[in-house]
Amino acid sequence: AELSDLEFVQFHPTALDNPRRPMPLISEAVRGEGAVLVDDHGDRFLADTPGAELAARDVVARAIADQLGAGHRVYLDARQCLGQRFAKRFPAIDAVCKQAGIDPAAEPIPVRPAAHYHMGGVAVDAEGRSSVSGLWACGEVARTGLHGANRLASNSLAELVATAAWVAGCIAGTSAGWQWPRMPAMVAVRPDPSSIRQVVSNALGIVRKGNALREAVADLLPIAVGDTAAADPALVALLMTIAALRREESRGSHYRSDFPGRNPKALPSSLTLCRAFESAVSLNWLRSERSY
Ligand SMILES: Cc1cc2nc3c(=O)[nH]c(=O)nc-3n(C[C@H](O)[C@H](O)[C@H](O)COP(=O)(O)OP(=O)(O)OC[C@H]3O[C@@H](n4cnc5c(N)ncnc54)[C@H](O)[C@@H]3O)c2cc1C
Repeated sequence: AELSDLEFVQFHPTALDNPRRPMPLISEAVRGEGAVLVDDHGDRFLADTPGAELAARDVVARAIADQLGAGHRVYLDARQCLGQRFAKRFPAIDAVCKQAGIDPAAEPIPVRPAAHYHMGGVAVDAEGRSSVSGLWACGEVARTGLHGANRLASNSLAELVATAAWVAGCIAGTSAGWQWPRMPAMVAVRPDPSSIRQVVSNALGIVRKGNALREAVADLLPIAVGDTAAADPALVALLMTIAALRREESRGSHYRSDFPGRNPKALPSSLTLCRAFESAVSLNWLRSERSY
């Protein structure tokens, strides 16, 4: 199937910075109540940014990543705005923090960005049809275009409820027609992304760069064509890396430090598995030629 906008991954700016996986989120609502982001000296580093702590997720996530990259820790400080009211206002977040040994009423919460939502996916039309006859997609796996380059918080559930209804309406008027022959059931290896996590973090994080993306292609390609439990995750990461390499601009959640400007025209990107493999193989070939 045709895939689109795979380079656009939203990072939630404020996940609890502790070893628990997946990282629990400290919702924007806490910042909405007035909590501020501070560095390890207690200084607000977003005070002069338009929107400050409530700027778009990519802006806040990048500012936090800059601090972390400079060796600082980052905290969400809700002591002044909420203090003892924190537990009543945010009981679930309070419980998660306390499990990690942090009392948000009395101390700042350590935070860092976490990969959160994929705007890209299977390219579909307004009724959820993919490029493959008989295949519809909706929800996070689909790329409807509704989220552009950066989803607004809380819009994904609204999107998937709306688009699921469109898909259902479209399928209801379609005959089953030709049916795929029954295939023997294949038990997939349970995917395990742990061995590629570092490669993906280095190349496909909040700030991307051509060289790191090309290195990631070289690392991911042999794993993606292998038969280990990392093969499927590596394949997805490879597709995203090729898409990120091709978008030579910064837009929404996709930030290239080597292309910080935004192209005047917003264009969706498009990729298939075959085209991604062709690109990956030729990139690797060019790399090996240059190293002689
Ligand atoms: C911590 C967190 C908080 C969020 N908060 C919000 C929010 O407040 N508001 C909002 O709008 N959005 C929020 N989101 C995003 C939103 O939850 C997701 O985008 C949404 O749940 C995606 O729904 P989905 O049905 O498309 O996919 P999923 O919920 O991922 O469902 C896909 C299902 O397919 C199953 N599956 C996968 N592979 C296979 C296979 N090979 N065979 C059979 N089944 C398979 C999976 O087990 C899963 O059950 C949040 C996301 C996270 C992670």
